Parts: sequence; structure tokens; C-alpha cells
Amino acid sequence: MRRAVKARAGHTSEGTLERLEALCRERGQRLTRQRRAVLRKLAAERRALSAYELLARLRPEDGRSTPAGVYRALEFLMEAGVVHRLESTRSFILCEHPDAPHGGQLLICRVCGQVVEAEDEPVAAATGRLGERLGFSLDPRVLELTGVCARCRARSAAH
Ligand SMILES: [Zn+2]
Ligand SMILES: [Zn+2]
Repeated sequence: MRRAVKARAGHTSEGTLERLEALCRERGQRLTRQRRAVLRKLAAERRALSAYELLARLRPEDGRSTPAGVYRALEFLMEAGVVHRLESTRSFILCEHPDAPHGGQLLICRVCGQVVEAEDEPVAAATGRLGERLGFSLDPRVLELTGVCARCRARSAAH
């Protein structure tokens, strides 16, 4: 059972990039410059980015970046299982453990925007049971929980 809650600090995208490259080879697709650039921008952040925030970061390096291109890259990365979409904020974040398809929980700080990815089995099991009890077959998706992170709580307590 995997219950570790890993913070995103010090996260690197190297393993993720390798995985993506292998996946692309399998599918006969190219890890395009745009896909790679989007991945790197997401890897550099502790918080989720919207497609337009991504575009704003990509434009200075590549003036040919377009919203449609960014969305296509994001679609590809989501399908490859290395990026999660946050429905509540319509933004995107790099997956913490892209080795296997998974549900899980994303804890989102509404003050600083930090996102922590967790895979808490009891929470996932409880959600499944809730759906069952109410006759729902729930989509296998990530549960989003908003609040204030430890750092922001400490900061506001210090004031
Ligand atoms: Zn994930
Ligand atoms: Zn915070």
C-alpha cells in the first residue's frame, strides 16, 4: 500500500522525460520541441499553470508558440499520463509518479497555489464506496481538495 505524501520540492523532470521519450518511440511519435518545452515549464513549478500562463512562459523562448499548440501538447502529455489537469482551476501540473495510470488526490493551496499529489488508499477506497452506495460508477479521476498549505498557515500565524 502506497500512502506516502510527497512534496514537490526538488522535483526533476529527468525520469519523466525519459519515460516520455520511450513512450513516444513505442507509439512512433516524436517528443516535439513544443511538448518538451511544455513539460520543462511544468517541471519548474510547484503550482499548476493554466494554458495561458504556459504560453506566456513559452513565448519569450519561442515566438511561434500558439494556444492551440500548447493545448495539443497538453493533450498529448495527459494521454501519456505525465500531466494532470485540475478541473477546479483549469490548470495543469506534472504528475509526481507517472509510472502507472492512477487516481489519487491533489491538495491545492488557494493562497500560494502549491499543489501536492497524494495517493492515499483509504481515501480512494472511501470515495469508491461512496459512489457504490449511491449507485454511481465514478470516473477514475483525481480528487481535488483545496485549502491552505502548511507554509502559508505558518506565514499567516507569524503576522
Ligand atoms: Zn499523478
Ligand atoms: Zn500555500
